[in-house]
Amino acid sequence: MKKLTLDSAESLASKFRVDIGASLNEPINVKAILRKLNILTIFKPLSDQLCGLSLKSATDRRFILCNSRSTKGRQHFTIAHEFYHLFYDENPIPHICSEENGGKNTNEKNADAFASALLMPKGGLLQFISEKELTEKELHIATILKLEHYFSVSRLSLLTRLKALGLLSEKSYTMLKEYPIVESAKQYGYETSLYFKGQDFLVIGDYVEKARRLFEQGTISEGHFNETINLITNDEN
Ligand SMILES: [Zn+2]
Repeated sequence: MKKLTLDSAESLASKFRVDIGASLNEPINVKAILRKLNILTIFKPLSDQLCGLSLKSATDRRFILCNSRSTKGRQHFTIAHEFYHLFYDENPIPHICSEENGGKNTNEKNADAFASALLMPKGGLLQFISEKELTEKELHIATILKLEHYFSVSRLSLLTRLKALGLLSEKSYTMLKEYPIVESAKQYGYETSLYFKGQDFLVIGDYVEKARRLFEQGTISEGHFNETINLITNDEN
């Protein structure tokens, strides 16, 4: 498996955007993409360090599990990361994706690079950064907030992306990383749900709809229907 460079990740993300009919520099709505591509996605609480997993069946049915204990911004990154495994991973081996950076294999690094480029296209970021900020490689917190809310991403993934693109100096990166996230958003009038966990037991895809239809048609019993739903919503799994 070849390592994706910054440029090749950007190209692959642009290709994905074209394939799904999205523009190149605007924010993407991951839930809308999941619905459009009919990828069965279940959000449920998992252990803190786990982000999610994805599987593709022999018949090309795709499935994503996303940790609803991650912040919403992080959940978007997880889903974009799983898009890489589902569409571009040459050797998809079922695995659980985690947050830790150390020890990540090439495949995991590629999935992260793709997710980063998909959610935060370079051209999209540049349109909000002033000449002065570009020259000094020091972004104001107001710009950071605008970018993270425009692209619906976590502070850490935004700062990491800006640094990787050479748009942020090491010093500015370190300083901005220390900035209190929720507090800064409140100070500038942003709502804060991006920074909190949530969406427990949300299901995207036609799984529940199909089960409900079968139940309404009398094809499956109420007990069978409830069992099917419990598979998803049971917190003990
Ligand atoms: Zn992964």
